[in-house]
Amino acid sequence: SNQLMAGKRGLIMGLANDKSIAWGIATALADAGAELAFSYQGEALKKRVEPLADQLGSPIVLPCDVADEASIDALFEGLREHWDSLDFVVHAIGFSDKSELRGRYVDTSRANFALSMDISVYSFTAVVQRAEKMMRPGGSCLTLTYYGAERVMPHYNVMGVAKAALEASVRYLAEDLGKDGIRVNAISAGPIKTLAASGIGDFRYIMKWNQYNSPLRRNVTIQDVGGAALYLLSDLGSGTTGEVLHVDAGYHVVGMKAVDAPDM
Ligand code: NAD
Repeated sequence: SNQLMAGKRGLIMGLANDKSIAWGIATALADAGAELAFSYQGEALKKRVEPLADQLGSPIVLPCDVADEASIDALFEGLREHWDSLDFVVHAIGFSDKSELRGRYVDTSRANFALSMDISVYSFTAVVQRAEKMMRPGGSCLTLTYYGAERVMPHYNVMGVAKAALEASVRYLAEDLGKDGIRVNAISAGPIKTLAASGIGDFRYIMKWNQYNSPLRRNVTIQDVGGAALYLLSDLGSGTTGEVLHVDAGYHVVGMKAVDAPDM
């Protein structure tokens, strides 16, 4: 434990269960002395998120469906009843119809393209828009992305296109908020077995491929992501904004299959 986040208050969005990347981030932040609030997507998740928030001593647990502007407004109004300022926000949210997270990108429907962009891209901008109004200089915003934004990955399809747009929005948001001393960054995490990931075709194969071919010869954990989030959300990251930080065991630097990787 350390006190890197002592005196800082932040909102964690996208916790579904203890496998969630949001949980790895929340535990690292709580361990560093942060005071946390959580939002959950719907009644079904409330009973999962409340006990986890309780474990970290966080009494503030509020609903928010990021597809709905009124719901995002209600979240921030609810937050203001507890806190008059905010130091950080974590957006660990993404969605696409899983029937389109397999097969060919070219077969993406207009409806699911719009939905994926709305939930996985615009929602971060919508959240930052509200968070900015509660933040002082030193504020920090973080979202989660994946290498499928930069290179073609099997089955990732429309989510790759959405993550590319999300990464671009991080750069634009960083410029807009930078003048006020607020930073905006993304972590590009390697594959981790979570609820959302289980919707992606051949996910076990993707995990194996990364394990055999990344420089560290392993997959990353939600604790690995938590450590990087602590850097970006604390004052250790004070000079870093608009960045996409890879936490992927180095996979993104590799150009071909490792010589010691088994045939798959
Ligand atoms: P997860 O299933 O634990 O979390 C996804 C969260 O998104 C859930 O809490 C869900 O409730 C929330 N969500 C979806 N639609 C929503 C809506 N309309 N309103 C509010 N919340 C909504 O999975 P995860 O893997 O921890 O995903 C977190 C983020 O990390 C996502 O952006 C994902 O794309 C990204 N990511 C995941 C991996 C991986 O391999 N797991 C790798 C890189 C990036």
